[in-house]
Formats: sequence, C-alpha cells, structure tokens
Amino acid sequence: MNVGVLGGGQLGRMLALAGRPLGLHFRFLEPARPAPVDGLGEVIRAPYDDPDALRRFARGLDLVTYEFENVPAHTVRQLETSLPVRPPSAVLRTAQDRVAEKEAFERLGVPTAAFHPVDSRSALKEAIEHVGLPAVLKTRRFGYDGKGQIVIDGPRQLDEAWAAFSGRQLVLEAFVSFTRELSILGVRSPAGQIAFYPLVETEHRRGILYSTLAPAPLAGDGLETCARAHLRTVMEAFDYVGVLALELFQREDELLANEMAPRVHNSGHWTLDGACTSQFENHLRAVVGLPLGSPEALGHTAMVNLIGRLPAIEAILEIPEAKLHLYGKEPRTGRKLGHVNIVAADPGSVRAALKRIEALVA
Ligand code: AMP
Repeated sequence: MNVGVLGGGQLGRMLALAGRPLGLHFRFLEPARPAPVDGLGEVIRAPYDDPDALRRFARGLDLVTYEFENVPAHTVRQLETSLPVRPPSAVLRTAQDRVAEKEAFERLGVPTAAFHPVDSRSALKEAIEHVGLPAVLKTRRFGYDGKGQIVIDGPRQLDEAWAAFSGRQLVLEAFVSFTRELSILGVRSPAGQIAFYPLVETEHRRGILYSTLAPAPLAGDGLETCARAHLRTVMEAFDYVGVLALELFQREDELLANEMAPRVHNSGHWTLDGACTSQFENHLRAVVGLPLGSPEALGHTAMVNLIGRLPAIEAILEIPEAKLHLYGKEPRTGRKLGHVNIVAADPGSVRAALKRIEALVA
C-alpha cells in the first residue's frame, strides 16, 4: 500500500521505519531540506499549500495521514476530495485551535482548566476576571513545545504579555498547580476497536518534553480507568482512526486535559523499545486497516529526549539498557535531535540507568 504522510520530521521518519517491515511504501510532503525522512521514501519538497505539489503528492496513494499538526485546513480539504485522510480532518481542525479543542473537551465532559479566548487588550482583562491569576496566556494556533505561551502572575505583567503577542488570537488558561503531568495514548481501528497504551508520566522542562516514565509510577487503577475513559470519549466523538495522545495534568486524584495530539506523539516514543507494538506501527496498522497489535508494556521504560546538543554516542551506548534513536537533524537550541529509551524488568534498574543518561545530557 502507498501511504502519503504530510510532514517529514522525526515522527514521519519513525513511521516509515515501522511501516517498511509491514510492506508499506511512503511518500512525504515536506517543505524543508534536509529532512529526517530523506532516504525513507519519495519526498515532495514543496509548501503545504502548493496545489500542483499536492496533485503530485496525491497521485497513486491509497490514503493520507499526517505527522505535523499545522497543515493548512484547505490542504487537507483538497486531499480529502480524492483520498481517505486518517485521522479525520475534523479532529485536526479542532486540535489546531486551543479554544476549539477546549470547547470540545467541555462538550464531551472531559475536565480541563478554566479558559477564555482573548482577541484584544480589554478582552485580556475580562479573561483574567473569568479565569483568575496565576494564568497562562497562549497563542490559539501554532504553539508547540512551550512556544507561544507566557505565565501571568500579577496585573503588572499584562502589558508585557499583551505586547509579546499583539495582533495574534490568544487564549488565557488558569494555571494548574499540578501534582504531575501524565499522558495517555490509544489507537483506534476503522471498525472502532481501541487499544490503550499504559498511562505514562511526563516531565517537561521549559515547556518541552524532557522524559517519560512508562508505565506511570503509582498511577493506580482509578487514574488509569479515568484517563482511558476520557481518551475513549474523544476518539468515539470524532470517529477517530489512528493514534491519539491526550496530555493530562494530575491534581491530587483529579485529571485535567491539557491538550490532544491527533498523531503519534513524543510521549509514546518509549513504545519503540518498551511495548509489544510501537505507537508508529499501531498508527499505521490502524490507518491502513490492518489488525491492531498489542500495546502491552514489556517491562519498565524511561525515555529521555536529546534536546539542542548530542552527547557522545559511545557514552550513551555504554549503558547496556540504552537504545538510541537519532533523527538526523542539525543541533540547534531547543531542537529535538533524538531520544534514548531505557528498558528494564524493574523500576530500580530503570532509575539507575536514567541517572547515567541524565549525567550525559545535563
Ligand atoms: P502545552 O504547549 O500547552 O502542551 O504546554 C507545555 C507545558 O507547559 C505543559 O506540558 C506544562 O508543563 C506547561 N503548561 C501548559 N499549560 C499550563 C497550565 N494551564 N498550567 C500549568 N502549566 C501549564
């Protein structure tokens, strides 16, 4: 089967690496050169809204999926006239706008932090009355890895925050004093079968995912059941196909949805070495209509992102439990260049190996 992927970053690369053993062929639409998917399929190098490139991209494909969320809506609409697009475009449109996303969570009964749209300086004041302080001011669109957000602690910061984003559509969210951050991933088939990966604990630094522990330590059945129920609700509401990630804040025993990602997700990279079937393989199985694989964890896994610079490869590989995944990207501040998975039978061994990795990436 010929699978078209919108985007050619590391997620596209890991999709292609997982799809080749299944006999799948890939074509990517990716504006940047070089790109992590180079050499793993045909790459149409063009902007996402180039109509001629879109026609070349679509020719001979069986279906289209995406690894990049900020694909213009009209690009997806044009492709949808001739090909199945999975996950469905309605969920992509919703996830592209933080207000639409939070309204969907509210409508579906998935708890989330209080929020208020902001499109003017006076609306910001109104939003603070509604949401309270401290709060987080975020761009409605095109925010990722903590980009496009400012924490507001007091009224003195309002002018500064407004000036930083002036002219953009914003949303103010209540600041959540969370106990920890969690993420749940699931995969849904076209027939509606769902496989859930275990709930994982995530740690962000400067808004970027730094590490994941899978399964989440001391999560208990209550949290796991609640997270699965929220994910199921969202998946069923959108008649979802593929992998969906739901990022959550845990506050005591309560879960609040932060955001969803209608694609394979960084908090699922541990599955490459730590689960029976990786999120990449299961996403592809779902979108092409093959039976889903087991999402079971094989033991205990820690995933650490390599951000901005790469430690010596030899030093990482000297740690016996470490599995290295590099994305072929040039080092740059704040850029995700690769990740390391550490899989062991018990959490103690994972923690010991994690300490060694942390000393290398510090
Ligand atoms: P986001 O881009 O919305 O996923 O935010 C990136 C990270 O910023 C999150 O993983 C949290 O660590 C932090 N963050 C975002 N929104 C909030 C919030 N409302 N309250 C507290 N922390 C937040």
